[in-house]
Amino acid sequence: MASVSPLSPRSFRNDPDSFLPQALGGFVASHPDAIWNTAGYIARRSPVVDVDGNPAVAVISGGGSGHEPMHAGFLGEGMLAAAVPGLMFTSPNAVQVTEATRAADAGRGVVHIVKNYTGDVINFRVARQGLPGIDTREVIVADDVATSSDSGPGRRGTGATILVEKVAGASAFRGDDLDEVTRLARVVAEGSRSMAAALTPGHLPTSGRYTFDLGEEEMEVGVGIHGEAGVDRTDVATAHETVARLAGAVVGDLGLTGGDRVLCLVNGLGATSNLELDLVFDEVLRFLADRGVTVVRSIVGSYVTSVNMAGISVTLTRLDDADGDTVVELIDAPTAAPAWPVTVGVDPEPVDATTVVPEDVPGTAESAVNQWLSDFVSGVVASVDDLTELDRLAGDGDFGTNMQAAFGDLSSPLKGTDAEVLAALASRLFIRAGGTSGAVFGTMFREMATTAARGASAALTAGELAEALTRAADAVTELGGAKPGDRTMVDALVPAAEAARAAAEADPEAAPDLAAVHEAAIAGARSTSEITATKGRASYLGERARGVIDPGALVVAWLFGDAGEMN
Ligand code: ADP
Ligand code: MG
Repeated sequence: MASVSPLSPRSFRNDPDSFLPQALGGFVASHPDAIWNTAGYIARRSPVVDVDGNPAVAVISGGGSGHEPMHAGFLGEGMLAAAVPGLMFTSPNAVQVTEATRAADAGRGVVHIVKNYTGDVINFRVARQGLPGIDTREVIVADDVATSSDSGPGRRGTGATILVEKVAGASAFRGDDLDEVTRLARVVAEGSRSMAAALTPGHLPTSGRYTFDLGEEEMEVGVGIHGEAGVDRTDVATAHETVARLAGAVVGDLGLTGGDRVLCLVNGLGATSNLELDLVFDEVLRFLADRGVTVVRSIVGSYVTSVNMAGISVTLTRLDDADGDTVVELIDAPTAAPAWPVTVGVDPEPVDATTVVPEDVPGTAESAVNQWLSDFVSGVVASVDDLTELDRLAGDGDFGTNMQAAFGDLSSPLKGTDAEVLAALASRLFIRAGGTSGAVFGTMFREMATTAARGASAALTAGELAEALTRAADAVTELGGAKPGDRTMVDALVPAAEAARAAAEADPEAAPDLAAVHEAAIAGARSTSEITATKGRASYLGERARGVIDPGALVVAWLFGDAGEMN
């Protein structure tokens, strides 16, 4: 049922012309140490000094906007002294860079960290030509292996930039001179390689158009950070395959072999969730572990973005014998720059984070088949997608997933007495499912199991079913506070308990009249489609839940018949 939203790209904006100045204003206002200079750069309020309070080498950087938090987020003691933002995806001009350099210089010289894009390289170069009185150095970052190093402008500068900025900034802060700050920055720049891939293109808030076109089933490999298309277009691959391709290219270009040590940056390009980045990092760690390459420090997050592209980049920095330990020390050094993580990963290794739940199958191999509860469970499991759809329309779309987690792996038919199977279903709901339904249905089955366990026979009698459902309804109401009319499973459970009590009056020892109970429960379930929810997730939707039957109420009704019927 997967469908792709036909919406065209949209952004929070007022009008395109005012977008960038306003966004920069917001950035400066939110940064504890930034001030805007009308020459077109962001400077620090704090003095450019080293750890002892003496003037320090200034490290500055800049480039097109759209890669936030780079560069301005890395402004702060221990990292950048100034950041020069260009227009969206456009290098700053030389005058901006000149003024920023002049302002940042504390008398010990200025290092320009420049991503290898023609516009950036040229404008920083022109700026340095206009500053004869200031000792300046250029460090070019050219890490993207998707772009060739021996033709045209060479490899693009991407993710490694922030590692270079960090090491240069920390070197300056510990008091190193201009030559040493430059040298260490170049060690990192030269030892770093990256490669990126995207699942969707990004779009500029100023243009409202995707930067390239991508088919439904396609991904773009080797993308840069300016919205340019990549070097290869393939079918959407798994994270495992994608990482093999990206990390494989990086490892190959750096010539890494067993025993080598690296820094690892797994970077999001602006619209990749943190959870996906975590998964990608796990893949990278395993990929490197398989090759005997040791990750000494790791950073996972969205730092060098392409506005809102759903993409990732993988950066590795070789830690060589001569300077490796120093580089690690400078990566570890504290900085006040808000975008740098407070701590980076230390000696990360692959972790198996599966949750192991106790095996919990009702009855024993010899027990008799429990047809009643088998029918119920198979009906629920067969309808998981439909239940999820109901919850998606009127809730958050996880109800079916929770039922699947609880019951999905039970082999049918279930065997055991009512008491045994009800207890097993309860414990599975509590231990394996999550959400409101895990707790609420777990409680219902627990109460039913307790009543059943007190009975003498394998199957519930009419009187026991009445008592079981009454206890269940009381316990669920007590737990979640929902009353009939609140559009929850209580709307089916309470009438079911009433009908069971009425049916048991004549002969409590007889077999229960499930049909009568089902009739009351399904009527209650259907009534939920007329009610606006006041409890549970559906309550956030108010009127939008109207016309949609509550999946929990439906499942309660299925316990008594027609399991799996989407009435
Ligand atoms: P979540 O709300 O965590 O997404 P699920 O999707 O797993 O929970 O379960 C939703 C179901 O839980 C609803 O269909 C409804 O029947 C039931 N429910 C919600 N709130 C309550 C409540 N307070 N008491 C009883 N049942 C509830
Ligand atoms: Mg839900």
